[in-house]
Amino acid sequence: MPGRNVGADAHHRGGWSEAPRPGAGTDRSAPCAACGAPPDTEAERLAAALRASESRFRAAFSDAGIGMALIDRDDLVIEGNPVFAAMLGREVAELPGMHIHQIIDPEEPSRHHYRELVRGERERMRAEKRLKHRGGREVWGRVTVSLIRDGAGEPYYTLVMVEDVTERRQLGDRLAYQALHDPLTRLPNRTLFYERLEAAFKPDGEDGPAGGERRIGLCYVDLDGFAAVNETLGHHVGDQLLVAVAARLEHGFAREGRQLVARLGGDEFAVLVTGSTGHQQLTRLAAALVADLERPFEVAGQRLTVTASVGVVERPVRGSTPTDLVRDADSTLYWSKSDGRARWTLYDRDRGADQLTRHELAAALRPAVERGEFTVEYQPLVGLADGAVRGAEALVRWNHPRYGLLSPDRFIPLAEESGAIVPLGKWVLEESCRQARQWLDGFPEQPVLVSVNLAPRQIWDSDVVADVAEVLERTGLPARLLQLEITESALLGPSGRPLQALQALADTGVRIAIDDFGTGYSNLAYLSRLPVHALKLDATFIEAFRESAPGADGRRRAADEQIVGAMVQLAHALGLTVTAEGIENAAQAERLRQTGCDTAQGWYYARPGGPELIAGILRDQPRR
Ligand code: C2E
Ligand code: MG
Ligand code: MG
Repeated sequence: MPGRNVGADAHHRGGWSEAPRPGAGTDRSAPCAACGAPPDTEAERLAAALRASESRFRAAFSDAGIGMALIDRDDLVIEGNPVFAAMLGREVAELPGMHIHQIIDPEEPSRHHYRELVRGERERMRAEKRLKHRGGREVWGRVTVSLIRDGAGEPYYTLVMVEDVTERRQLGDRLAYQALHDPLTRLPNRTLFYERLEAAFKPDGEDGPAGGERRIGLCYVDLDGFAAVNETLGHHVGDQLLVAVAARLEHGFAREGRQLVARLGGDEFAVLVTGSTGHQQLTRLAAALVADLERPFEVAGQRLTVTASVGVVERPVRGSTPTDLVRDADSTLYWSKSDGRARWTLYDRDRGADQLTRHELAAALRPAVERGEFTVEYQPLVGLADGAVRGAEALVRWNHPRYGLLSPDRFIPLAEESGAIVPLGKWVLEESCRQARQWLDGFPEQPVLVSVNLAPRQIWDSDVVADVAEVLERTGLPARLLQLEITESALLGPSGRPLQALQALADTGVRIAIDDFGTGYSNLAYLSRLPVHALKLDATFIEAFRESAPGADGRRRAADEQIVGAMVQLAHALGLTVTAEGIENAAQAERLRQTGCDTAQGWYYARPGGPELIAGILRDQPRR
């Protein structure tokens, strides 16, 4: 047998790497270059022949930048070069005599191909293989094996060349991982989610229980009020909160091969259940999700509480599609939101039939601005001391050609998300200012201001200061008759610093009001340092003033009233006026007047209406 035990022969250790350089010997029967002994075994004659006749090859072999080895027909290493040895974490001298399976994983089909090669049935093979590094390090090689035949054309030995592709492969793995996972939370991302979803609908997917019909379930999870956390406490804290939420979801709800927890983007997550057993499994899961997320999170040294809204769909795979499932989960999530948040809702086909999805609405928004499908209604702001109208809040509506009049709660958040709020908000601003100028023209001795809502994104992403100046100029409305309503959460820019635009806006002479005050995180002392002129107390905040506030006993109501009273006093001391929102009855109005609130707004005075509503009141009310 050629080559057997070549490596075990002590006087050849070091082999070719210590052989003379090219041109040193060409005779096939030359004595061993390493020790001068005459060749004895057939293997030695082989090695000697190679040394003699292929000195060029030999130099290339030992100096090669890639790993190389010669393997005899019994799968034993004849020689390996230094690079090859290094890939295996070994010395060159250790290699001769090692079995190929001690070096490279012998799995099929490459094992089969190798056998063909050794039998002379194939000249060359290539494979990417994991090498057996002595230290256990992960080393991957692109292996090319060529058959070398003897003078008679018989298989003689094989030449193995190995290129180290570990780094490329690890990078490939990392790229593949990155392509399918969200970098922030490390959860599976939208792409992986859709991959799994599509796979679950494939006909050859696994069967349902006992081979029955296959079912699938999906919980669409959206955090409530996450934007407020993000904007008030900074994106850094927001991110950490998302990481904590993701960890809790994954820990509690991911089940290998059955339940996938993914982050779909922003504060949206999904739990995909393949092979579900019925509605009950999913509603139980959804209830657990809602409950689990209600436990407070410790983030950045703070205790944060969020709630989640969940849309739930569960159905047989047959007769549905991934697109249907996702669309219905999305609608259902929206029902959860509009039913008051912090809850789950199970998809209901009847309710779904005529429902718009959020995506459909979002896509339709921008063109609708251009087509002029929006209108503005106005709700009077009434002085509590004398009942006179002091201004009107502009509230946008979408006159949708198919779905009728849509309230802003349905589309403002979508417009905000998609950026359509910028053109829409600009239009509302211009329309409202134009209208206010008409009131001023009609009733010059009763100037009323118009109060326009500004979304956070309008302040951050658009040149709102220039827009306001331009609109005032174009419409001829005096700056003092424009009030801009900004929510607390919009006061801090993404950088965590107060908005620079705020000062610039105030400098143009418009009033700044903080909308929905009492629902966010900011405090009055902080607000007083900003160029703010008015507070609008959120309707929920003054719930206590409702004659029969549900669940609030007398003592608690009295305490709430005292808080509001103290806040009004403090606001006045800081030079802010106070408006109460959501006044629905006379008793509320009276008690708010007693606390010293300046103005009020609510159904008790008037529901929002067209511009003629305000003009009518101005016409009828006694001159101030
Ligand atoms: P908001 O600025 O707090 O507006 C007050 C909301 O309370 C309005 O709802 C108003 O119709 C409603 N409301 C008034 N009186 C009462 C009452 O006595 N009881 C109750 N329960 N509700 C009352 P609307 O018009 O549906 O607007 C909802 C929100 O949509 C607004 O809340 C505002 O945040 C946003 N919004 C409206 N128009 C615009 C806009 O042009 N731009 C932006 N960015 N947001 C807008
Ligand atoms: Mg408002
Ligand atoms: Mg408000």
